[in-house]
Parts: sequence; C-alpha cells; structure tokens
Amino acid sequence: MALEFRGVTKQFATNSGWDLTAIRDVTFKVNEGEFVSVVGPSGCGKSTLLSMTAGLYQPTAGEVLVSEERVTGPNDHVGFMLQKDLLLPWRNIVGNVEFGLEARGVPKGPRRERAMRELQRCHLAGFENHYPYQLSGGMRQRAALARTLAVDPEIILLDEPFSALDAQTKLLLQDSFATTIAESGKTTLLITHDLAEAVLMSDRILVLSERPGSIIAEIKVDLPDRAHPLRRRVMPEVGEYAGQIFRHLKLEEKAI
Ligand code: ADP
Ligand code: MG
Repeated sequence: MALEFRGVTKQFATNSGWDLTAIRDVTFKVNEGEFVSVVGPSGCGKSTLLSMTAGLYQPTAGEVLVSEERVTGPNDHVGFMLQKDLLLPWRNIVGNVEFGLEARGVPKGPRRERAMRELQRCHLAGFENHYPYQLSGGMRQRAALARTLAVDPEIILLDEPFSALDAQTKLLLQDSFATTIAESGKTTLLITHDLAEAVLMSDRILVLSERPGSIIAEIKVDLPDRAHPLRRRVMPEVGEYAGQIFRHLKLEEKAI
C-alpha cells in the first residue's frame, strides 16, 4: 500500500478553542502506481489532506501511512506540487530542478544528469538555461513537475496544479502531466475542483463532503488511456462520470 489514511480527523485551533474541524474520520487507501483524485467543495479540507500526507500537519486523530510507515513529519517519500510553481526566480530552470537534489547532498555531476533527464521527460530539453520569467505558465508548471520528480519520491501530491492556467494550456498540460506521471509509474494524489479533470486523469476519485470533509463517494474510473486525457476527453462516459460526481456533491440546487 503506497498511501493510507486511517480514521483521520484534523482540527485547527481558532480563537475560541479547538473548534474548527477541517476533515473528519477520513479513511482510504491508494495502491502503488495508482492515480487518485480528490474533489470537494472549497474549504472542505483537501489541501489539509495533502499537507498531512506530506507530514506538514499531524492528524488530531487517526493516522497517515506512506509505504506502511506512519508519517510523523516532512520526509523524502513524498513530493508536493502546488498551484503556484514556487520556482526560484534567481535560478535557471536546471538550477531549480537540481534544488532538491542539492539539499540532499547529491554531488554536482549526478545532480545535473538527473535534472536533465527529468527536464527531457517533462519536454523542457533546450530550456535548461532559461530563467522562470522567460517561460510560459504551462512550462513553469512542467519545470515544477520536473523538480518534484527529480528527487524520486514514492508519491506525488498535486494541489490544483492547473487551476491558474488558461483553458487551452490546461488541456495540454493535463495531457503532458498524465503521460509523464504514467511513465514514471508514481503513485499520485491530485486535488482538483474540476470534475472533468478528475475523470480524465484518474483511476479513482474520492468525493469529499463540505467541511468537515469526509468521504461521501469513491468512484472507480473504468476507462482506458489514463496516460492520455485528450483521448479520454472524447469518450461519452466522461460526461456520465462527471455527472455522477456532480450529483454526489449535490451542486444542482446551488448551481441553478
Ligand atoms: P480546501 O483545500 O479544500 O479548499 P483547506 O484544506 O485549505 O480546504 O482548508 C480546510 C479548512 O481548514 C478551512 O476552513 C481552512 O480555513 C482551515 N485551515 C486550513 N489550514 C489551516 C491552518 N493552518 N490553521 C487554521 N485553519 C486552517
Ligand atoms: Mg486547497
């Protein structure tokens, strides 16, 4: 088992005491190599769930396990990527991709070699000497993915990585991320509020309720071509799956 949540509840302190429950009694498993998306209303605890997987927060109750081991703090098993690319503006792209390796004491030669390999995998060969400001939003997100993959984590966490991009870039990037991730064989947890994106990219989708977030549905996406969301996009089942999630979220009333 790559990742497991067992009865996880997370509360945050507020001025009036321990009264904000972000997520409640969340239990799920993610198999090795599986791509799982988490959808749910904003503020329902999705990012909190990722932060706990990365060891940035500890659960108030229950436990989080990565590769059968309890997560007690930040660790090398997990790579985290956010909506904002957080590339260092004063480092060129290869320097950014090398950053995590440098922090882990990997010597210069192997470091450069690994960074270049990841850049190639993320279709950024030839851009290694560019600076972040010289790249488009989509390219910067690919560089951020290369940086995440470079340290070879067992699990990749993606927190709405496409939500700041224009519609067309988003489609292309979903496709290129899906292919790169499928090739890497990495276990992946994607947070998104885009229901179609969840269907296009995932093996399975967890639907969370409003805060306090708890799992209200688990949907297995029985479609081919996980590595190619653009191919999945034309399949009529995609709309059916999205509709199914939509009904679970009971958005109908609010949307009208
Ligand atoms: P989502 O990602 O689903 O939009 P979050 O996980 O960011 O939701 O937040 C869930 C709830 O927990 C929100 O009400 C948010 O204000 C609260 N929260 C998140 N992080 C903290 C924190 N560090 N301290 C206090 N409250 C927090
Ligand atoms: Mg969030």
